[in-house]
Amino acid sequence: MPDENSDNATSYQLVILLRQDCQIQVGALGRFDFEAGYYIYSGSAKRNMTARLARHCRKDKPLRWHIDYLTSHSAAEVVDVHRFNIEECQLNQACPGIIPIPGFGASDCRSGCIAHLKYLGSKRP
Ligand SMILES: [Zn+2]
Repeated sequence: MPDENSDNATSYQLVILLRQDCQIQVGALGRFDFEAGYYIYSGSAKRNMTARLARHCRKDKPLRWHIDYLTSHSAAEVVDVHRFNIEECQLNQACPGIIPIPGFGASDCRSGCIAHLKYLGSKRP
């Protein structure tokens, strides 16, 4: 998958490292066990991509999206950010990993993704 890293990128992936097993409340979706390891989250921002990515990397923020509950957790860290100019669901479906939490980040998805968060285990992507 090419990392376009271009100014007209509309989608992105976050690589998130969770340093220990955790239980995390993900808003109204519920409370879930998260295994330690690497996660990839696929999202999109039609505008203000740089601000969006900076927000994802901050701990202190209003919890608005499912991903905010993970990225604001004390044991979690965004270790990589990649920008793309392909559609976020294509990006997500081409990404390896298992789906730990059905529905996570996919509230607005119309492309049949079960979730926009994938778990990769202990190997850094
Ligand atoms: Zn999708």
